[in-house]
Amino acid sequence: MKLTEKLIELEEKMTEMLEEVKTLKMYAYSLEDENEKLRRELCQYPEETKKAVEENAEKIQGEGYENLARLYNEGFHICHIHFGQPRKGDCLFCMGFMRKM
Ligand SMILES: [Zn+2]
Repeated sequence: MKLTEKLIELEEKMTEMLEEVKTLKMYAYSLEDENEKLRRELCQYPEETKKAVEENAEKIQGEGYENLARLYNEGFHICHIHFGQPRKGDCLFCMGFMRKM
């Protein structure tokens, strides 16, 4: 292969990689943005609720999606705020959480 051909090939690969970096960068931006938003939302809750939310987040991370979906269908909250508590009707937090999973 000629040197120019090799360079062209290399250039194409690097362009591809750069595109991938750009996509990942945008994804990281959106995650950071959401993280910041959630942090701000959480600050509006009293200390007690914040503690419960942190503990629930740990429990939720230990559960698989299927278990969580089953828990929800059995009538329990799977959201960070009321995790494990009996659910009366639909919970907006739970539904929002399931949509994100
Ligand atoms: Zn809930």
